[in-house]
Amino acid sequence: MTARTHDLAAFTGLVAVIAYLPLPAINLSTLLLGLLLNQIGGIVPDIDQPAAPLWRNLPIGRFIGKIVGGSLGGHRFLSHSLLGVALFGFVLRVVLGYLTPVLGHANTGYLWWAFMIGMVSHLIMDTLTKDGVPWLLPWGFKFGFPPLRRLRIHTGNWVELFVVFPLLIGINVWLVGSHHATFSHLLQQVR
Ligand SMILES: [Zn+2]
Repeated sequence: MTARTHDLAAFTGLVAVIAYLPLPAINLSTLLLGLLLNQIGGIVPDIDQPAAPLWRNLPIGRFIGKIVGGSLGGHRFLSHSLLGVALFGFVLRVVLGYLTPVLGHANTGYLWWAFMIGMVSHLIMDTLTKDGVPWLLPWGFKFGFPPLRRLRIHTGNWVELFVVFPLLIGINVWLVGSHHATFSHLLQQVR
């Protein structure tokens, strides 16, 4: 999947969770930082490839990307597994713990969840692609859906652009429309 689809999928995951598990009142910094961390979580598994957007935009990004990718076991390895999700989750918890004084009134628990939702959405979306995802590392089998490989999506092809992407937009519209009261209540409570 392309970074754009992953961004939208991460946001969709966040919207879905809030729709079904409404949040109590949150402050503005939690809302904004939560959205940011959700988007970072949505693309972070791809730091394992030197050509990832994050590395492309840094001066010596490709070089760093190669080192990071190598230490994560290559593309679609550790950062594309439940073990990787747990590892990133642990590291983020520690980092957020240190940053708590700087983050002011932001609720670091919600920030952590926003990131994790984004990261899991990435793995779900990549499961729909030809290469699949090694969800159960160290067992290296790459799971894919549908199980028949040739029915899966090629990254960036017309199915992703004209079916998956519009479908994700549709899901967002439907979620917000069907849980309108939840979302307007949440936004009214933001301080
Ligand atoms: Zn990926």
